[in-house]
Amino acid sequence: MEEISREANCMECKLFARCKSPKMKASGEGKRKVLIVGEAPGETEDLQGIQFVGEAGKLLRRTLAALKFDLDRDARKINAVNCRPPNNRTPTKNEIQCCRPMLVAEIKESRPKVIVPMGETALTSVLWQRWRQASGGISRWNGFQIPDQEYGCWIVPTFHPSFILRMQGKNGTEAIWIRDLKRAIAKSEEPDFPSYSKNNLESSLITLKDETKIIKALKMILHKKPALIAIDFETTGLKPRKDGHRIVACSICSAGIENEDEKEVSISFLLNMRKDSGNEKIRRLLCKIFTDPLIGKISHNSQFELTWAKEILGCWIAPIIWDSEIAAHIIDNRQKTCSLKFQAYVNFGTVYEDLVPPTLRDYLFSGEDGTSFNRINEIPTDELLKYNALDSLFCFKLAKKQMEELGFLAHKTEERIVLKRFPKIDSETEQVASGLQKAMMLFLDGSISFATMTAAGIKIDINQCKRELRSTEEKIEKCESNLRNSVLGMEWKRKYGQKMNFESPIQLSRLLSANVSSMNGEKISTRHEDLEELVGKIDGIANLLEYRRLRKQQNYLLGLEKEIENGKLHPFFSLSGVSTYRSSSHNINFQNIPIRHGQMSEAIRKCFVPRNGRKLIEVDYKGIEVSVAACYHKDPNMISYLSSMSKDLHKDMASMIYLLKRSQVSKQARYSAKNAFVFPQFYGDYYVNCAKALWKNVQALDLKIEGAGISIAEHLRNSGLGTYEKFEEHLMKVENKFWNVMFPKYREWKEEWVNMFEKKGYVEMLTGFRCWGPMTRNQAINYPIQGTAFHILLWSLIRITDKLKEKRMRAKLIGQIHDCMLFDVPEDEVEELIKLLNEVMTVEVRDEWKWIIVPLSIEVEATPINQSWAAKRPIEENH
Ligand code: SF4
Repeated sequence: MEEISREANCMECKLFARCKSPKMKASGEGKRKVLIVGEAPGETEDLQGIQFVGEAGKLLRRTLAALKFDLDRDARKINAVNCRPPNNRTPTKNEIQCCRPMLVAEIKESRPKVIVPMGETALTSVLWQRWRQASGGISRWNGFQIPDQEYGCWIVPTFHPSFILRMQGKNGTEAIWIRDLKRAIAKSEEPDFPSYSKNNLESSLITLKDETKIIKALKMILHKKPALIAIDFETTGLKPRKDGHRIVACSICSAGIENEDEKEVSISFLLNMRKDSGNEKIRRLLCKIFTDPLIGKISHNSQFELTWAKEILGCWIAPIIWDSEIAAHIIDNRQKTCSLKFQAYVNFGTVYEDLVPPTLRDYLFSGEDGTSFNRINEIPTDELLKYNALDSLFCFKLAKKQMEELGFLAHKTEERIVLKRFPKIDSETEQVASGLQKAMMLFLDGSISFATMTAAGIKIDINQCKRELRSTEEKIEKCESNLRNSVLGMEWKRKYGQKMNFESPIQLSRLLSANVSSMNGEKISTRHEDLEELVGKIDGIANLLEYRRLRKQQNYLLGLEKEIENGKLHPFFSLSGVSTYRSSSHNINFQNIPIRHGQMSEAIRKCFVPRNGRKLIEVDYKGIEVSVAACYHKDPNMISYLSSMSKDLHKDMASMIYLLKRSQVSKQARYSAKNAFVFPQFYGDYYVNCAKALWKNVQALDLKIEGAGISIAEHLRNSGLGTYEKFEEHLMKVENKFWNVMFPKYREWKEEWVNMFEKKGYVEMLTGFRCWGPMTRNQAINYPIQGTAFHILLWSLIRITDKLKEKRMRAKLIGQIHDCMLFDVPEDEVEELIKLLNEVMTVEVRDEWKWIIVPLSIEVEATPINQSWAAKRPIEENH
């Protein structure tokens, strides 16, 4: 254990001087070897001189007692800071550091089997040296059961009971807290503590630089044909297509490849392989291993290894049996918990930085953008190879642990190695965890299809991109000059002089508060929608909005230009970064193309073009989230709306909201009801906000009665709803009817669903994924719907990718944005592709998932041949 003074640095901290029970000692009998670490004494604790006796402490005692665990008898208790801070304020980092020797001394003396840090302060003190960078808060760590190798005991962080009190146990917090406490108690009952000592780990690493030895080792792997190998590359950057990029090192880890016992060994090979240079014999051997059907491959982010192997080595890795990054995400949906470094610590209690220099990763991730070169050359070769071997070793260990946890076995058949599911009893719910198995398979297949999509790439008209950039810059110049000369611009200059920054929301907020809020006492927000309200009221606001839009456009175009490789864009698509189990995209964020603003969207989409003689085809599901919601709540009236061509919910609601006959509802009024009432209601909004938006639309959209030429404003006046107050009152009744008369089953489902979530702490999607809280009520309802909608698209995407290959079609899937896919298609395959899209997306997916109880429909848009994405039109017009 780390060497640290056993004496707290009280003279620097000084908190002892102002409390009643200074330097509170640890207490409790600790019979079950659990050490509970709190934040600091509160008022009651300070008065009584003992930990956890205030309200929060009582809650903890009660909860533990219900789990048959006596806080005073079974645990020891200590705080991270052992004197009460004035007014119960949160202790500072310095106070935590000063007091930490008391905690370390307690750990040394009582030798707990489990440490339970409760809350952020306790976590900071317990982790301290182990996680030098920001810990990311207790909600990133709670519930993990960390076999910390340095302390030689488990760390199971959880929330502080005062947080549960504050939250009144809502948003799933109490259920999650109890789960964490159960996990901590269970760990105290385990007889053995797993050992992953530094020496043991290092003895599993082999580094090879000599080509003869590398060839010999690769031949040995081929000869032994291990069922599973983990692969990791160290490369000169993120994307491989620019000239000069190389795979500097590759490591392969498996069990029993070096000798006959099953000891895990990770071998790192120095390659320095480029697309057009490197040892050909080594390249061939690597490709033989990577394509051998009897060797199952594991990777931590397989898309990366697939991309680099294809571009540099010239082979496609198969079969990918496991992706430990994706599995980490399936097991735990929290963001920023999937990196190998984090997973190595929470699963094996080992800190990378104890094994390799912490600066090494900075060099590897030093590229400015996806296509540029990092500083790998500056890393000493031996350190790089060791790091590379460690990555594969942890990836392999992690994958094996995850397979066990999720109930999978790697199984060798005559032709290939495959994953086989076995029923796994989930100790927490005592249910067969087949849902998580299905989720894992979907995302594993999805990541491989995404890699295919990334490899295909999207063609960019580079000249158009440059033209758009030039034109945007000119517009920015002009717009900036107008903004400077406006009242707002001059005031800005007067207040901030040289430091004036039109992109600073803080400066803008201060300016507006000084000039506007003083007039009406309201705080002015700088959000786009709120600033739009000020157009015409403050000179310069319109210029500012235009300036912001152009800057955003410029930034996107600049990003686009940087990421182009050989005339194409190859964004990465990830399945492990979103807590609601949807996809994300990076380098460039393809899913963040500005689509709301017509001009901006057009300027950017003009840069995306099909390959020669082809069209771009975009397909998306129509109203998929409403359909998915119906699969959850099964409200018969909603199912009827979704299943009948003649029924139109938005039209019916417009008729109810604006007191119109159905035949009087115009397209605009329907649009207003759909976007300002129906969808917001589905997503959990309430009538007051809807009333405001609907009322605003009457004027802003100049709503009229269809066929009569009379404005809806006038019609509402004539109907006795001439004031906003009356309209709001009317909408309250509409909302009441919507939920209680039209869709009562949907309303009941929402209540039951939220109750179930509060009880379990997570929601389970129809596709098997588990979304853990804390979540608000609306999130608990909406996240599974949004996630499931994406899974339907992903299933279709995988199926279509396979079918395109099977049918040897030349059409390529090139991108995915939320509920939509983008294809690059030769003219003669357009018809066949559309037929395929319809079959897979509306029929086959329903055969696969019988819980889809409503019809699904798609919308297809296409560009004319050789024209940009901006020229897309609904397929009827082109086809
Ligand atoms: S909080 Fe700890 S370090 Fe600070 S004065 Fe009290 S015992 Fe000493």
